[in-house]
This record gives sequence, structure tokens and C-alpha cells, in this order.
Amino acid sequence: MLELEPAMPLINAHCHLELSNLEGKMPKNKPFFEWLTYLRKETESWAKEDYQASYLRGLELACAAGTALIYDVGNKMSELQHSQVSTLSMHEVIKEFLPEPCTPHSIYATPPELVKRAIRQCVGAGIPWSIHLAEFDESDRFVDFLEIFSDEIEIVKNGFVVHGNFLKESDLNFMAKNNIALVHCPQSHEWFGHKDPDFEMWKHSGVDICIATDSLASASSLDLMEQLKTLFRRYPKAFTQEEAIAAVTTVPAKYLISF
Ligand SMILES: [Zn+2]
Repeated sequence: MLELEPAMPLINAHCHLELSNLEGKMPKNKPFFEWLTYLRKETESWAKEDYQASYLRGLELACAAGTALIYDVGNKMSELQHSQVSTLSMHEVIKEFLPEPCTPHSIYATPPELVKRAIRQCVGAGIPWSIHLAEFDESDRFVDFLEIFSDEIEIVKNGFVVHGNFLKESDLNFMAKNNIALVHCPQSHEWFGHKDPDFEMWKHSGVDICIATDSLASASSLDLMEQLKTLFRRYPKAFTQEEAIAAVTTVPAKYLISF
């Protein structure tokens, strides 16, 4: 029986609030790029106001679930303020640079020079960067991300690697040494049917682990406690309750609480 009662404010290290109105509309167990086709079809008629309404609904759901702070990633310039939920609204760079603060979407969707520029900008601003990485297979590897920074590797500190299902031990060791947290999204992981994470290896590396929601386009809830329930249902032995609570409170706070 789970007794998950966090004493600290809940912090969501990865979300796309502007996709909240896709709840219940997206297929499960599809390859990512097929899922993306559905997403594009569902949103092709969305105007800026639709993205804003979707963003606001996400904020309200997060607020109702007791979330105090969200590191949000979006590219439609749809962010709005909320009186009870703080957001760090990052503009996700895909094919073009957006108004700062920017962070790269991924190494498969974002050209290397834009990945570099976005991460440099985060470092300059003292904001953690974030990137979807090592999610599907061996095609978006951490070493390929590091290769982009081969002439200035010291810059790659203070960020979030989101998903990281295919990270290797050496990747995790680098992350642990360089203040790069691994963000696991339990419902999104189940949604796409990704392979089981090697939680033992993750924990052994000493890497910081955050648990987050991702968006309602690949999760059924923006409630971090629901994410922990999914995690414990699927992997009852992966984390202690204290570790799981830390992954939605003190660990993301280490990266985000000064913002
Ligand atoms: Zn995401």
C-alpha cells in the first residue's frame, strides 16, 4: 500500500502544457513518429487561442493536483500566468530559434548548431537546459549529443535529459558528475511501450532522478502522485517511497527552486 504524502511542494520537471487538450485523443503503443502524425493532425486547426486554452487547462489540472512549480516546454508561445502554479516556460527549439529562454527539443529534430546555441543560452542565463534524449533506440544517443559540444564539453552542465531509456552506464556517470538529471515520465514510458528502464544502473550511477508527467498527449494525468502510482504499479521494487517522493520534490528543487 502506497503512502505517498509529500511534505514539500511538488515540482514537475517536464511537461508540455500547451498539449493538455489532447487528453484522450492520442493513440497508445504507436512508434513515436506515427504518434507525431496523429498529434499534427489533431492540432492542425489549432489557433494560438486553442493552444492557450490547452495550456491553461493543463495549469489548472496541475494546480488541482498540488503542483507548485513546472518546468514547461512549448513552442507555440502559448504560455500564461497562474496565481498558484509557478512555471519556468522554456521555448522548445525545433527548426528555428525562438524568443529566449530556449531549450532544444532533441538531437533528431533540432540541428546541432541550434542545440548548441540553445544550451549556451541556458548556461549564460543560469537556467537548466532540457532535451529529449535516448528515448526510442540507439538513434538519439547521449554520445551524439556530447559530440555537438566536443570543443567545449565543460559547458554541458546543469540540465535535464528527458526519458533516457537507452542511456549507458558511462552516460549516467557523466551526468552524475556534471549536474545533469535524468527525467523519467512513467505514464509516457508505458504509453509508448518503451523497454524496461535499468533502474539499478540509474541509481548506482548516482545520477539525480526526477519523475515528471510529460504531456497529456502521452500520459493520462498531470498529477505527479498518479505518475508515482504508475511507477510503483509497474516497478514495485525500483524505488523506495522516500526516493520516489524526492524525485518529485527535493531533486527537481535542486535544479529549479531558485527560479
Ligand atoms: Zn516531452
